[in-house]
Amino acid sequence: MIATSLSSGVERLGDMIAGAATIVPFTGAGISTETGIPDFRSPGGIWTRNRPIPFDEFVASQDARNEAWRRRFAMEQTFAAARPGRGHRALASLYKAGKIPAVITQNIDNLHQASGFDAADVIELHGNTTYARCIGCGKDYELAWVKTSFDHDGQAPSCTVCDQPVKTATISFGQAMPEAEMRRATELAQRCDLFIAIGSSLVVWPAAGFPLLAKQSGAKLVIINNEPTEQDSEADLVIRHDIGETLAPFVGN
Ligand code: NAD
Repeated sequence: MIATSLSSGVERLGDMIAGAATIVPFTGAGISTETGIPDFRSPGGIWTRNRPIPFDEFVASQDARNEAWRRRFAMEQTFAAARPGRGHRALASLYKAGKIPAVITQNIDNLHQASGFDAADVIELHGNTTYARCIGCGKDYELAWVKTSFDHDGQAPSCTVCDQPVKTATISFGQAMPEAEMRRATELAQRCDLFIAIGSSLVVWPAAGFPLLAKQSGAKLVIINNEPTEQDSEADLVIRHDIGETLAPFVGN
């Protein structure tokens, strides 16, 4: 059912939240646009400017690695300045109230952690761009280390331990999904009674399978997104409005 107005959608969502014992949110780039971080697919989104660099290209080519890091540093001011928005804060309030056990996110911006979720309760399906990781041995690096090295010789650096490429700790197209996170997200989707997909175009798989899994496992499904998604017909409630406006009433003190 598509909410006919923002207020009727918020009211219905409030009833569903009040009636649910276990709520699992699933978030995409749309929850972060009000914080200044662009999404991928909207006009002005990241993909309208840059073609994504697939994992095998990153591994095979020093030029691709240099370009990937140039783009990442170009975004640094935006990521560093972003603070949790109303959507993040509403979810953090429900988490503190014990209604939300964990959030499943496609986002890489660390804003759920910044809003008050324990890191262990943020299930990052696509990793995190606020630090770097060696693709060989998995050693973590601070971005500042990568930047210093990059600025010094103009080349994306390799691991000091195993000499393999160092990449943002994100999952690129063509890269394997993180197993533990996929398992945990599956369990959460299967065990909740309300699943809320927020700010995702629901076209990136396998992540986009979680709303359907929750629905098939018996949960009610809510989709909050300002444009239609392919899964709207499966949802018990679709709110096609701005996320900050929709979730502001659920921000606690
Ligand atoms: P997407 O760009 O495909 O979809 C975002 C959706 O949110 C769009 O349908 C858009 O219309 C909607 N939206 C944007 N702002 C909104 C608002 N204020 N209110 C309501 N709806 C709004 O993003 P996705 O589905 O998350 O998938 C793409 C991939 O992008 C993810 O894997 C993620 O890793 C990556 N990504 C992450 C970030 C981030 O961490 N903030 C930013 C860009 C891309």
